[in-house]
Amino acid sequence: MHTPPFRIGFGYDVHRLVPGRPLILGGVTIPHHLGLLGHSDADVLLHALTDALLGALALRDIGFHFPDTDPRYKGADSLLLLRDAYRLVRKEGWLLANADCTLVAERPKINPHIPLMQERIAHTLEVEPGQISIKATTHEQMDAFGREEGIGAYATALIYPQPQASL
Ligand code: MG
Repeated sequence: MHTPPFRIGFGYDVHRLVPGRPLILGGVTIPHHLGLLGHSDADVLLHALTDALLGALALRDIGFHFPDTDPRYKGADSLLLLRDAYRLVRKEGWLLANADCTLVAERPKINPHIPLMQERIAHTLEVEPGQISIKATTHEQMDAFGREEGIGAYATALIYPQPQASL
């Protein structure tokens, strides 16, 4: 079968906002009176991105590789889950071209934190910050996101064959 010189993946995730948890988005702890609930650090942005990377190669999803019933992943740093998922992608002979992510959060303001998120993710994946786009939008005060009951994230990732793999 002919393999085209690229593959694309998509990821989506939602976590509930609760008191008494830190708010961690894109590997950055953001000051806020609520944080995301989850078995790991609940970094919804990194979970969506991890699913996009896995999805690009039909490698199932984050819950398949890092089950939330596994005590090893309790409180896990999602940057490490992202790193491990990307290792699988590289092992299959592919590299990340670029990722484009959107956070859906009514509050807090995400924009001031985006450059550091790009830096943390790029460092983890050994790519340039310019390959990691992060955008944020509100839900215009509509439904559960608008009521600040949770934060959602979408991500796409384009991957291409490692140069040595195509020789
Ligand atoms: Mg998640």
